[in-house]
Amino acid sequence: MRSLVDDVKDRTDIVEFISGYLKLTPAGSNFRGLCPFHKEKTPSFMVSREKQIFHCFGCAKGGDIITFAEEMEGLEFKEALKMLAEKAGLDPSKYQGMRSSALSDGRGSRKEILFRILESTTLFFENALQSIEGKEAYDYYISRGLKPETIKQFRLGYSPRKNNNGFPTALFDNLKSQGFSPEEILESGSVFQYQSGNSRLFMDRFKGRAIFPIFDSLGRPVGFSARVLPGDTTTQGKYVNTPQTLLYDKGSLLYGFHLAKPFIREEGEVILLEGNLDVVLSHQVGVNQAVATCGTALSKKHLQFLRRYTKRVVLAFDGDMAGVKATKRGAELAWEDELDVKVISLKVGTDVADIAKEDPEKWKRKARKSKSVLGYFFDLAFKKRILSLDQKKSLADRLIKMIAKVPSEVEKSHFVRKLSEEVQVPENFLFEKLKKEQKSTVESVNQNIGAENTPLNQEKGRKFLLEERIVGLIFNYPKLYFVLRERMQNVYFKSPEIFSIWKEVKKFLKGLDDKSLEKVKSGDFKFESRNLELEASKIAIKIEKEMELTNEDDLEEQKKELLYCLDNLLEENLQEEKRVLVNLIKTAEKQGDKMELKRLFEELNAFNQKIKDGKNKS
Ligand SMILES: [Zn+2]
Repeated sequence: MRSLVDDVKDRTDIVEFISGYLKLTPAGSNFRGLCPFHKEKTPSFMVSREKQIFHCFGCAKGGDIITFAEEMEGLEFKEALKMLAEKAGLDPSKYQGMRSSALSDGRGSRKEILFRILESTTLFFENALQSIEGKEAYDYYISRGLKPETIKQFRLGYSPRKNNNGFPTALFDNLKSQGFSPEEILESGSVFQYQSGNSRLFMDRFKGRAIFPIFDSLGRPVGFSARVLPGDTTTQGKYVNTPQTLLYDKGSLLYGFHLAKPFIREEGEVILLEGNLDVVLSHQVGVNQAVATCGTALSKKHLQFLRRYTKRVVLAFDGDMAGVKATKRGAELAWEDELDVKVISLKVGTDVADIAKEDPEKWKRKARKSKSVLGYFFDLAFKKRILSLDQKKSLADRLIKMIAKVPSEVEKSHFVRKLSEEVQVPENFLFEKLKKEQKSTVESVNQNIGAENTPLNQEKGRKFLLEERIVGLIFNYPKLYFVLRERMQNVYFKSPEIFSIWKEVKKFLKGLDDKSLEKVKSGDFKFESRNLELEASKIAIKIEKEMELTNEDDLEEQKKELLYCLDNLLEENLQEEKRVLVNLIKTAEKQGDKMELKRLFEELNAFNQKIKDGKNKS
């Protein structure tokens, strides 16, 4: 029976799929792009249509289309496979092992159950918004400028205060009636429990509030942000959010991202706003590349997630003190990741939601006119202000510190010149300061680089490299196996991973008749284990790159290379055995075992002859 993995791979074009996330350009028979998983300026991320894999030569990340979906969307293997299957028009439930049966009762894994609860909860809140009690919330949305279709698109809702008996458990009751256990409902985060006397009681967390569901990147609800309605005199905060759960990680989620995703790619940027309503209204008026953090400051985690989709981050925070601080912090974090940062400057106390509601064109214009972060801080510092000499000096110090962190050299020199004009200090002097500042930044960056050591940089040993090269050459030029059939049948690989790969390769080749042998291509190799297949294709693409410039017409160069590797591997293996032999001789000498010594010396001579023969042959 065919596996779902095979069918998904057959039906999905990896180049097309990855192109949905980043720009790929043809490079020989492969495609190349900037790696979404590490910082880089020259592309070392390769996608091979023939081999159905991707591989980054910079950070060594690689795999097949499922691995890519896992990494890119932050999914588990099964989730990624399911998503791709559905995209390809396949029904995962028809395949063995893909039915929701991770648990013996057939209800699915913990995560699957939670996803179902969150979906049911979202539906419940959506329906409640249409009820009589929900009218207050509905009116609130409309008063903020939302259209009914926007309310639907973002699946906004309302959480009822009470059930029919007057208890604050409307949601809890509903979920229970659908067969979810109290423990499962608690775990979803929308309900909490408390002790009353001897009994355990439950209470809906968001009751009486307007509900903004928060979605993961695939558009599945994972949590909620609940806003108090106008006139409500609750003692709790304006917003109540889902606490950390298995699905809800506020430190990495971005509100609106599932809808913004295609636009971020199209516009080549993401706009970061402060609140949920800002995002909703922004989308409503056509600024669709907007997202917001979920009640936390912008973090490294957010930026690392976003950089897979775009290299430009536009910050649009309130112009008040807190907003300016958040802008500075956000910009510095993004610079560390070598992202291009822009700012949309807003006046103190302005809500993007209000601008978008009152004057959609104005918000669209503003969104198009983002400026550089330094430009923004220069304006803050120097516009409409007369400064004393001391003030200028301290401003210059602060701005130089910021300039030092900008990744772009062009931008740096531009702003040093500008600063020199503003504070009337010679450019040279400022450049000196900048150099000193940069030196200290570079030092602190260098201390962190150790952690970025990739497997590529690890010393793998000459023998492993030879073995890898031999297998990689056969993957790319299968004909060579038959050209050098005798040598290839006798080659012995010692590193365990190459050994297992080779075992399957041989099995595959042996199963072919002469006619199909002629036509076998590099993408044809099939493996029983997906892990081995991925390992093998990694090797294949590595060697393909190394052989990139050789002539493929007659395979002469490739054959020479293969022979060279075979000879050298043979010699390495013989030398190793010789070392063992020499050690045995030493022991025998110590023990005075003459018979054994004689035998060992004979063996050693034979060995030396073999090594010599091997050398003469090549
Ligand atoms: Zn990479």
